[in-house]
This record gives sequence, structure tokens and C-alpha cells, in this order.
Amino acid sequence: MIANKKLLVLPGDGIGPEVMHEVRRVIDWMEQRRLVRFEIGEGLVGGAAIDAEGVPCPDRTLEAAREADAVLFGSVGGPKWDKLPFEQRPELGILRLRKELGLFANLRPAIVLDPLVDASSLKPDVVRGLDIMIVRESTGGIYFGEPRGIHTDANGKRIGIDTEVYSEDEIARAARVAFDLARKRRNKVTSTEKANVMQSGRLWRAVVSEVHKAEFPDVELEHMYADNAAMQLCSRPKQFDVILASNLFGDVLSDLAAALTGSLGMLPSATLGAVQPDGRRHALYEPIHGSAPDIAGKGIANPSAQILSFAMLLRWSFGMEEQARMVEQAVERVLAGGMRTADIMQPGMARISCSVMGESVVRELNKIA
Ligand code: ATP
Ligand code: MG
Repeated sequence: MIANKKLLVLPGDGIGPEVMHEVRRVIDWMEQRRLVRFEIGEGLVGGAAIDAEGVPCPDRTLEAAREADAVLFGSVGGPKWDKLPFEQRPELGILRLRKELGLFANLRPAIVLDPLVDASSLKPDVVRGLDIMIVRESTGGIYFGEPRGIHTDANGKRIGIDTEVYSEDEIARAARVAFDLARKRRNKVTSTEKANVMQSGRLWRAVVSEVHKAEFPDVELEHMYADNAAMQLCSRPKQFDVILASNLFGDVLSDLAAALTGSLGMLPSATLGAVQPDGRRHALYEPIHGSAPDIAGKGIANPSAQILSFAMLLRWSFGMEEQARMVEQAVERVLAGGMRTADIMQPGMARISCSVMGESVVRELNKIA
């Protein structure tokens, strides 16, 4: 029996609560089988928190996240809160969590599962078996650097300013996450930047090389300009194993990689913090999709990305590789059996609802275990 772990569940808005409901089925099953044992807390975030408490990330939620061994996050936002001023938007809920917990490394796998090869925007041969991991630095760079803002110049014209700032420590810690991951995969890191035109890019390349030489000489390292990486992702994606990128380039490259797989409703993500002196590490797991207001409440969302985020949580926060694999296999088997939620519907397949997808995953788990 595995010891009690503290898990904080934050369903959020839109389809968040719907897909989270299906994860709870999976967790219940694992607890019944005594494969895991969690102390589960639930909290408010995003629009749900604004409605109940007036802020997108109440202190109580933040404290619970700090105490938890891992956070499973749904999604936030929706038309109901669109008119709020910028500083009060539901999206600030996740931003506050990331910042306060120091979640600096965003891991986004882009995987093409065999049954979904035809869903990709690329030819089947180009993407069959695709398995890339993108490590996006997520607390620094151009989204936070100063000066920033919209100002007026001497001629009364507006100028918009953003500044990319990276310290060597910020680059090094993101690089370590990427190298560490590569060792558990196919041992290759492609570090992306624009060292040809950006000073922060020059430093990025230098620091990644230094960390590589000093700590990870056994891992293959390749440097690639970010624009070239975008092109290579579209033409020969299988050359990549782990891609390391800044906050901005990682944002773009990971969306591109997700599009290659053709299934927004399938892709999970993890965001990790630094390892603390006591050995603990904050981590938050969430699907890459948003709250999908257009389909919320209809019971047709694909819960796979949320369920696979839970698999990542098992692997990354609790080292439960075997249990994580079980969950991933169960999802894949449901798809292989010809069942599809609306977002990944293909000709000749059976269209199923969000809850039937969740039930089917549990049915497959029963067969695997
Ligand atoms: P955000 O800004 O929060 O990332 P977004 O507006 O970019 O949100 P999503 O909320 O991810 O986008 O939705 C984009 C499209 O994908 C919508 O049409 C939505 O219905 C669909 N979609 C997203 N997630 C799922 C899912 N799990 N299952 C089915 N369809 C989904
Ligand atoms: Mg989006």
C-alpha cells in the first residue's frame, strides 16, 4: 500500500468540473484497488472563485496548494467573466499559483497515439509514433521583464514595450529539467532561442552549453534557432526528443506541436517548481486545453487530457511509473476500441460522451490490472 499523499483538486470553470469528474472515477478505482491512497482536498479557482469569494485565487486555495504534494488543475475562464477588468480576470488564478509556487518548468508532451494517427494535420508516416516533450520556461522572460507597458513617446504616439530578461540561474534550472528528462527518454535535448538576434538568446545558448558540459555530458545537445525549430517540427517532427525553450518560444512551439497531434482534448501538461531543501517539489498538472465554453455543460468534452494529466502527476510527483502507465494504456485502449468523443471523431467510430469515456477508461483499467 502506498502512503497517504496530499492531492489538491481545482476543477475551475467551463468543462473543468466535467472532465475532473471523470478523473475522480479513475482515482476511486485506484484507491479501491489499493494502488494509491490520497488525501484529496478540493478548492476554488478562476471564475468559480470570483463568484464565491470575489478573487480568482483565494488565499485559502493558495495555502492548500502549498501544502499539497501535487495539484490537479482543470481550466479557468469563460464569457461570464470576460467583461471584468484585466486585473480581476479568472486567468489570474493560475498565474498566481504558478508565481507563488515558483512553477518554472512547464512540461508539454506531444504524443501521437496509434489510434489517432489520422487525426494529425501531417501525413501519417511523418507523425506515427511521435513522442516529443517540450520544456517551456514559465516564470521568466518577456511575459514578465521590465520595462513593459504602453507609453506615449515625445510625439504623443503610443509605444508598446515588452522586455525579455533571463538570468543565468533561470536558464540553468530550466535546462536541468530538460536534460534530466532526456536521460529518462531518448537522451537528446534541442535547445531553441534566437541567439543570432537576441542578447537573452545568446546567454541562453551559452548557459545551456555550460550546464550540459558540467552536469550532463552524456546527453546529446543540439542548438536550434526557434524559427527553424518551428519549421522542423512541421516537416520532420520525429527528429526531436526533448525541446527546451523560453517562455515565449515555448508557448508558440508547444501549441504548434499540439496541433501536429490534432487533438487538443488529448494532451496533458505538468508545471514543476524547484526541489525544496526538504526534498519536496511543488507541481501542478493540467490539460493544455482551456475551459471550452462553447461545449461546457453539454457532456461532450473529452476527459482524456485531464485523465492523462493525472497520469503525469502519478509519474512526476509520486514516482508511480507503473500506475501512470496503466492509466495511459487504458486511455489508448479505449481509443483503439473505436470509441471517440466529438473532438476526435473519425468516420466509422462510435461517438461517446464525456462520462462514457471516463467509464470506459475504468473498464479498461479493470482488464489491465
Ligand atoms: P484558453 O485561452 O483557456 O487556452 P482557448 O479559448 O484557447 O482557451 P479552449 O478552451 O482550449 O481554447 O478551446 C478551443 C476549442 O477546442 C474549442 O472549440 C473547444 O470546444 C475545443 N476543446 C478544448 N478542449 C476540449 C476537450 N477536452 N474536449 C473537446 N473539445 C475541446
Ligand atoms: Mg488557448
